[in-house]
Amino acid sequence: MILLRQYATVTAIAVAYVKGFLVHKQHNFIGGEWVAPSTNDYSEVRNPADIDDVVGYAPKSAVRDVDQAIAAAAAAFPAWSGLPAPERGRVLHRVANLIETRIDEWAAELTREEGKTRTEARGEVVRAVELFRYFAGEAWRVGGDVLPADTPQTLLYSVRVPLGVVAIITPWNFPLSIPVWKMAPALVMGNTVVLKPASATPLMALRLMSVLHEADMPKGVVNCVTGSGGIIGDVLATDTRIRAVSFTGSYAVGHALYQKTAQQLTRTHLEMGGKNPVIVAADADLDKAVSIAVRGGFGLTGQACTATSRVIVEKSVAAEFAQRLAHVANTIVVGNGLADGVQMGPAVSESQRNTDLEYIEIASEEGAQVIAGGTAAPGNGYFVRPTVLTDVVSSMRVAQEEIFGPVIAVMQADDLTEAFAIANNVAFGLSATLVSNDMRQALRFAAQAEAGMLKLNQPTAGVSIQAPFGGFKQSGSGMFREMGKGAVEFFTQEKTIYLDGQ
Ligand code: NAP
Repeated sequence: MILLRQYATVTAIAVAYVKGFLVHKQHNFIGGEWVAPSTNDYSEVRNPADIDDVVGYAPKSAVRDVDQAIAAAAAAFPAWSGLPAPERGRVLHRVANLIETRIDEWAAELTREEGKTRTEARGEVVRAVELFRYFAGEAWRVGGDVLPADTPQTLLYSVRVPLGVVAIITPWNFPLSIPVWKMAPALVMGNTVVLKPASATPLMALRLMSVLHEADMPKGVVNCVTGSGGIIGDVLATDTRIRAVSFTGSYAVGHALYQKTAQQLTRTHLEMGGKNPVIVAADADLDKAVSIAVRGGFGLTGQACTATSRVIVEKSVAAEFAQRLAHVANTIVVGNGLADGVQMGPAVSESQRNTDLEYIEIASEEGAQVIAGGTAAPGNGYFVRPTVLTDVVSSMRVAQEEIFGPVIAVMQADDLTEAFAIANNVAFGLSATLVSNDMRQALRFAAQAEAGMLKLNQPTAGVSIQAPFGGFKQSGSGMFREMGKGAVEFFTQEKTIYLDGQ
């Protein structure tokens, strides 16, 4: 017995030592160097699935640190933009190759930092590799136009040129892939970057910097400064050395940011929240519809901008659909995403967990029924049970406001005409799905749905790298798209050249 107790103590000390050994203070990445924040202050990042597990410490930077990062990016711009594009593409390929050798290690760290399951995290790391490769390829593809000239022996052509220093501001739910899907097109087109990741998940971005360093990215081309957006966000929005701001996050922050960047006429891209519907037609295969709702609504713990938060069902099948959805929701294994068999991780933070639970309470007060979940789940983290609400109508807050958690509101419609109207009756317009076997209804849906991404018989979540991605209404600023050629357009401007040979 004594021996057993001693063994347990030694094991506990060893685990604490290993955790302590791995936990050290990270620095900002500025001008190709690791630089301590001028505040000498750091924030602690804890594992949302095990709040005793300290994942790391990230700098709480001040404006002075951002200023230094902008200066480094500005100094690096002439040489980086002056490289032949394929040279830049080769650097991005090296980055992709290096990340590819660390997929499982990074996935585990991503799970510890953000909470998503290991499988989901692995998907995100693989996505980062693919994004670097896809945009690296643009180095060999993006050209310009040769146009008919109005004068003889004149060469008239246009080329895409980089903007300069760009600021990238990202949310916590995809700590790796969102920085990459902005950074990769920016870099390949010749821009230099200042990245500010979310304060809840800053460590993955710093990890990415270490690989850029290893891949011999020239100094100053990418800089990363962590810290509160409320403190260092304004300088990114207002500094005139910054030629573009690419932001992903909430509507409230994006809206305020836009007003500041507009003062300088700084090109700005905003991708924001969603209230994404799945519409279930009476002719749908209900098990398939449930699977689509579950993957969209509970995948990534509902913490995706494209997550399904409303399911609008034709009345004749609504009760049956809700019952089957609740049944599946109750079987989902919630827990630490590193553990085998866990299907859904925790909310990213205590405040996000509280938001989820508050919305469930508000919904109940407004007359909704909780038919699955509805409460926190046990464990040493911010766990919430997958929740299904019924009797939800459009006037309820839970039908209008983004929750960003594993909560699906089931609503009824008399027919598809009404379902399409309910789907559009929100301020957001990011993603929407129709589950049906009727192609005529699918075409009506494609014509009428007010969202940037529409799917037939697929979950609302899930984006292809090569396809335009962005929101309508309050989900996005709308002028540009991410991914595909939209990303190249955002991070470049056109220059037109007349060469008169006479
Ligand atoms: P958030 O609170 O809006 O924060 C996003 C980023 O903005 C963070 O880096 C944040 O820094 C920073 N920020 C905060 N205040 C700022 C300011 N005054 N000036 C400049 N930057 C500032 O969003 P979040 O909670 O991280 O992410 C969840 C939201 O992102 C949801 O609404 C979700 O729908 C949206 N999202 C959208 C997409 C899309 O593609 N449409 C994709 C993923 C997520 P701090 O962390 O330091 O506050």
